[in-house]
Amino acid sequence: MLNPGPVTLSDRVRAALVRGDWCHREAEFAELTRSLNRRLETVYGDEETRRHVSVLITGSGTCAVEAMLATLAPVESKTLVLANGVYGERIASMLARMNRPHEVQEAAWTDAIDFSAAEARLAAGDFSHVIAVQHETTTGRLNDISRLGALCKENDVKLLLDSVSAFGAEEIRLDAWNVEGLAATANKCLHGAPGISFVIADRERLAEAHPACPSVYLDLGAYFATQHGDGFSPFTLAVQCAFGLDAALEEFLEAGGWRNRRSRYAEIGNRISAHLGELGIEPMLSSADRSVTMQSHWVPEGIGYQDLHDMLKQDGFVIYAGQGHFAGRLFRIAHMGDITDSDIERLLASLTRALSR
Ligand SMILES: *Cc1c(COP(=O)(O)O)cnc(C)c1O
Repeated sequence: MLNPGPVTLSDRVRAALVRGDWCHREAEFAELTRSLNRRLETVYGDEETRRHVSVLITGSGTCAVEAMLATLAPVESKTLVLANGVYGERIASMLARMNRPHEVQEAAWTDAIDFSAAEARLAAGDFSHVIAVQHETTTGRLNDISRLGALCKENDVKLLLDSVSAFGAEEIRLDAWNVEGLAATANKCLHGAPGISFVIADRERLAEAHPACPSVYLDLGAYFATQHGDGFSPFTLAVQCAFGLDAALEEFLEAGGWRNRRSRYAEIGNRISAHLGELGIEPMLSSADRSVTMQSHWVPEGIGYQDLHDMLKQDGFVIYAGQGHFAGRLFRIAHMGDITDSDIERLLASLTRALSR
């Protein structure tokens, strides 16, 4: 699986999925919920203060993003959305449907965030919140959230992040970047199964009432009150996905956390990009601009995306198409999941076969 989630599971995570039939309202599941939240909070926990807490929700990454917005995007003040891909644009349409005051600063999907434009807007003082996508999976661009975070801090503006394809493999600094909340999922860089996702957010903001939240299911205040109270959840959590995330977090922490995962992904990515370079395939972004999680290359002349996909699939690999106007023009290869060195060897051989025809 070289698509950007869901990922190839390790045997240990796959085995955990069938740990047993548990009731979500028994003490042992409350304990598991607490333990998952505790470990998720410590992934980026080398911060002194620990103002942020994790809440789990059943649903894919989009569910976590939408729940974060429904609960935390302000009603009385404006949010600036920085969009340079599908996921940033999706955030803007969520805010529009919720009637939350916002403005969108849009960039072409090929471009970085325009920081001087963002700075001018923030300095004008209209915004209380900024929201951005950390790793824009549309292209593989790692947006410069360190720079954005500094800008938020300077202007006393809160930052909300879609970190769905970054959490667990890229740097995140909750306090230094003024992060009020971030959304992420079990089944990308953490290597769990799809179906459970989470939001890490400022404890005090979650503890407030959220009368403007347009959704009962997506009101994270209710999840906070119960998961950080008796340990239960307002609605059924995906029990088996929670088992999978449990095993995935054990593996993740044993293997040295996000720094080691980042190095591993970078190593895989560098091997693939070097090989594609030798085959004359052009990357969409320079290596300085891309995340370690995934990379995009242009489909070369003389082969269609679907043929490339199908040839690789015959060899056991699933790659991913471009989205929107990049459909048929880009192909994407992700580095997440239980991928071994011998998988990479086989992949490089398969790419050579497919691309030298
Ligand atoms: C994968 C992804 C999502 C959400 O994906 P789901 O299909 O809902 O799990 C959101 N944002 C980004 C940046 C992503 O990569």
